[in-house]
Parts: sequence; C-alpha cells; structure tokens
Amino acid sequence: MNSAHNLIVSPHSESFLQTLESFGAVERGHFEVKGKAEDGTRLHTDFFVNYRLLTTAQEKILTPLYISALENFFSHRLQNLIIVGVAMGSLSLPKVIQLSLFEKYGIEYAYTEKREGILGIFGEQAKKCSGKHLLFLEDVCNNATSSKELIAEVESKKTQLGITGYSILYGVHRGHAFLDEPKGEIYAMSMVYAPSYHKNNCPACKNGVLLREYKK
Ligand SMILES: [Zn+2]
Repeated sequence: MNSAHNLIVSPHSESFLQTLESFGAVERGHFEVKGKAEDGTRLHTDFFVNYRLLTTAQEKILTPLYISALENFFSHRLQNLIIVGVAMGSLSLPKVIQLSLFEKYGIEYAYTEKREGILGIFGEQAKKCSGKHLLFLEDVCNNATSSKELIAEVESKKTQLGITGYSILYGVHRGHAFLDEPKGEIYAMSMVYAPSYHKNNCPACKNGVLLREYKK
C-alpha cells in the first residue's frame, strides 16, 4: 500500500480509476474548481471526477470494489463501523455500499445534515453512532474543505456522540495535497496526481483551452 502522511491508498488504485474512466465519470479538459487560491480566485485543473454521472448499474459494479477495500482497511473492526454518507455526488452509492455491508456484517448507516450552517450528525442519527467508529464516504478529495468542517464538528462532540473514532474513505484522492488536516485516518480507493493551478500559471489557460466554469 502507498501511504503519505496520514493517507492510505488501495493497492487497486489504478484499476479503480480505469473503471471510473470507462464509466465516463472522469473528465479531462479545463475546469474551474470549488477551491480558491489565496487571492480568492477559483483554481483551475485539467482533470475532473464527477460521481454524479454514475448510473445505478455502475454504482452496483463499484460496490464490491469498495467492499473488498473496506474489508482490507478495517479487517480488525468491521463490526464496529457505521457508514456516514457525506458529500457523495451520487447520493445512492454510500447507501448501496452500506446495504451490502449490512448483509455481511450488520453495519448501519447514519446521515449528516446542516443545522444552522454547520454540517454534523444530529438527533436520532447521533444516537446510532454511539460506541461506533464513523466511516465517512466521500467522492473526491479536492481540497478537503467539507471534510475539515465535518471533522472539526465531530471532534468537538466526540464524547457527546460516544464514538470510538472516525475515518474518511475517498473515491479519488487528488495527490496534489497531502493534508495534515483533517487529522485521523484517511483512506482512498484511488489516487491520481492532478494539481490545481492559479489562473495566472495554468497550462490550459496558456494554451487557450475553453474553460468550464464552476457552478454551485
Ligand atoms: Zn486555466
């Protein structure tokens, strides 16, 4: 397994990426991303992974790849996991993965929501997490903004939630940034080196490639 800082990448990274690519979920070109440079301008990149493009049939094909990676990463504490769906563009994939894991290991599911602008786990969902190790399933790690927000919230309520810990599993980690934050155990199904650039030194800008602007 490759690892850098606190990141552990599946040994099947390459074939996972190829599968996503064959499903049309990997786009190449010139994209403006959510992340911003220090001067507030949005960063540019030439590689964009979009889980929202996946069909249910494709999600079902990805599921066993996730299951086998999770069995590998969490072999010693599968029974203790609870799956928490976060910002998956595809809303059903975390649930589909959890249903398979439920059949094999009885693993439950909780969901996050925003309350007063804060992304967290509340009410009935929080009760489900007691005594569990949270596993957040995320699609792509671009700059980990949403993960940092969620981790800060979970970290501050760790005792209140009664959880034993938490991990994040990304579908694709863009290897341009090995973040010390969020701390904790970070896993990825795959990793690709895909830097993002300030518009002033973006190769695609220089080559006059049409930019697809970020839409929120
Ligand atoms: Zn550009």
